Amino acid sequence: MTSLAPPPAAQAFEPVIGLEIHAQLLTATKIFCGCSTQFGAPPNTHVCPVCLGLPGALPVLNGEAVTFAAKVGHALGCTVHPTSIFARKNYFYPDLPKGYQISQYERPLATDGGVTYEEGGTTRRIGIIRVHLEEDAGKSLHEGFPDSDTRTYLDFNRSGVPLIEIVTHPDLRSAAEAGAFFSRLRAILVAIGVNDGNMEEGSLRCDANVSVRAAGAQGFGVKAEIKNLNSFRHVHRAIEYEIERQVSLLRKGTRIVAETRLWDVGAGRTTSMRSKEEAHDYRYFPEPDLPPLELDPARIEEIRRTLPELPDARRQRFISQYALPEYDAALLTQSSALADYFEATAAAATNAKAASNWIMGDLTRKMNELGVEIGQARVAMPPDALGGLIRLVDSGRISSPIAKEVFEKMYGSGRAAADVVEGEGLAQIDDHAAVEAAVWEVLAAHPGPAAQYRAGRTQTFGFLVGQVMKATRGKAKPTLVNDLMRRALESPEGTR
Ligand code: ADP
Ligand code: ZN
Ligand code: MG
Repeated sequence: MTSLAPPPAAQAFEPVIGLEIHAQLLTATKIFCGCSTQFGAPPNTHVCPVCLGLPGALPVLNGEAVTFAAKVGHALGCTVHPTSIFARKNYFYPDLPKGYQISQYERPLATDGGVTYEEGGTTRRIGIIRVHLEEDAGKSLHEGFPDSDTRTYLDFNRSGVPLIEIVTHPDLRSAAEAGAFFSRLRAILVAIGVNDGNMEEGSLRCDANVSVRAAGAQGFGVKAEIKNLNSFRHVHRAIEYEIERQVSLLRKGTRIVAETRLWDVGAGRTTSMRSKEEAHDYRYFPEPDLPPLELDPARIEEIRRTLPELPDARRQRFISQYALPEYDAALLTQSSALADYFEATAAAATNAKAASNWIMGDLTRKMNELGVEIGQARVAMPPDALGGLIRLVDSGRISSPIAKEVFEKMYGSGRAAADVVEGEGLAQIDDHAAVEAAVWEVLAAHPGPAAQYRAGRTQTFGFLVGQVMKATRGKAKPTLVNDLMRRALESPEGTR
């Protein structure tokens, strides 16, 4: 008996994805000159002979960019090399006035790392091939001018802005996984303070390499590279589209060609841009105007030691130290600023879970409502203030519904929780006699539901309790109301 391969149409395919991520380093000045990296300046105001590529202008390497790049190397578990070499990558583009980009090629700054994390109960490791330094190109402006239909304008403010390129192994296996990994990487870069994570401004973008292969196969299929994806959504959708495109070609028996493709956001598809360029097309050679980049091993080690706690480690710590559910920990460690806010609030409240609930609940709602970030929210509601509110709830001074009201009054006002409670007379009524009086008043006012309860239709209980809460403007202590209401209803009819 011979075993036949299944016909292509019935065959299952597995996607294989590798990402090349470009991240702008948060230095004040460019990588090889003193020009500002500030975003949004009028076109061509942050330029000089070096970043315009004028003859005779010589590049001088920005030390801070090197430190930041080395941090990234460490954060991604790579070996940071004491010697790396800049190279010229030659190609023509109108926004690349030198006719070459200074990058690193054969000897990048950092190599051979990986990012390990837990996902749905399994451990995933995405290998990192390399992290290297390079300069950004300028920007061609195809839109926004009266004569944009016939002319393209050039803005060189970006020219020479420091970038790192991070190249992963083809270890990702779905569009969703690639999107999630990109987001994880963003969190790392932002947490270590080297990138602002701002994808709209182009500070972080990614090229996705996608191929598919028969499920279970060892080798790789021919890949297409989708250029310049600048949001998680685009990464996800472009890869998803590309996987389907390749699978349907293979099912028809058509070969995939190696090429560079573009994601057309409007049309929701990838289109061919050019056939795949090869490294030798770029005529790489060592940059004659820059010496090899030498880093003292002691300095490399010192940079490693200054790394802050990384988001995944912090998430794990939140689970173990504060006994938070995984869900809370993942949410709270999405940004360092949010995680810092949580830790400060948890300490002030001496109740971590309550701090988490308030942050994920009312504070997040408020931030969405006002369209503000945690930085601004922290000013409007300092951790100590929110902690104070939580302590009032925990001590029984105010009920949870009242606490929400107090929260509203505190936000942006600079008032402390105790102050609001005092000033507005919102303290919880836990005076036995007062609550009991309210209970009997409600029973007298609603004889019907009371009689129904006593006749065994106990669903009316909630209604009666609600009436007491209403009568006391939410201030009666709920457990006490429950208690006294039950006692009143179960006492011999109508007697106190
Ligand atoms: P190239 O020489 O074509 O530029 P590289 O080996 O430099 O390819 O890899 C570039 C990126 O493409 C890396 O992120 C790598 O993981 C990814 N990659 C390589 N081969 C494949 C493949 N067959 N399918 C998907 N991604 C791949
Ligand atoms: Zn310059
Ligand atoms: Mg490559």
